[in-house]
Amino acid sequence: MTPASTPPPSPQPALVRRFSSRLLAWFAKNGRALPWRRTRDPYRVLVSEFMLQQTQVSRVTQYYPRFLKRFSSLDALARARPAAVREAWDGLGYYARASNIHALARVVRRDFDGRVPDEPDELVKLPGVGRYTAGAVACFAYEKPVAAVDTNVSRVIRRVFIGERGVGSGPRSLLSRIWHIAQTLVPKDGKRAWAFNQAMMELGATVCAARRPRCQECPVRPVCRTGQD
Ligand code: SF4
Repeated sequence: MTPASTPPPSPQPALVRRFSSRLLAWFAKNGRALPWRRTRDPYRVLVSEFMLQQTQVSRVTQYYPRFLKRFSSLDALARARPAAVREAWDGLGYYARASNIHALARVVRRDFDGRVPDEPDELVKLPGVGRYTAGAVACFAYEKPVAAVDTNVSRVIRRVFIGERGVGSGPRSLLSRIWHIAQTLVPKDGKRAWAFNQAMMELGATVCAARRPRCQECPVRPVCRTGQD
């Protein structure tokens, strides 16, 4: 058993290289042209991440432009009345997200001079921002080489690098192992890190699905512990 103070084992560098090059080549050809992938504007990235927290991509693509048309900047959102923000969110559900992003806009305007922080440690202190969203905003808006582990990414990492037989630990230590692997995998170059994190989410959403993974079509199957079983 690994002592608590010892970091969990990292995948071998050769394996990481093979995995990354296969994943990135696949994403370059197959990644969907989603509107939030065309921007590095931190406010727009934040709006997309808040909407995607509990809503499917197809629905977010309808609501995202509508919300941005109504509140075109973080400043505009910060100045809005709560009822107006709620109205613009209407139909997306989970309205706590609307009040959280509204509160976030006000905090950023008041405490950060209107500039969204670029470090996960700062981002995670903002309303409605958890560890995943902090990493996603740092990477997708500022191209920081940091991990962003959502449910899809967690599943891909578990299946590829841990395998079902390796899942012996409790959920908390499994999650910390997955985050550790994710940080090992993320390329050091910011632009590659951006593509890598997007690609991981894309693979988990479209190929390595929770119920029926499409292993026969999967670009990383040759290096996947589960797909090879
Ligand atoms: S080979 Fe199968 S289990 Fe492995 S990452 Fe691909 S879809 Fe998921």
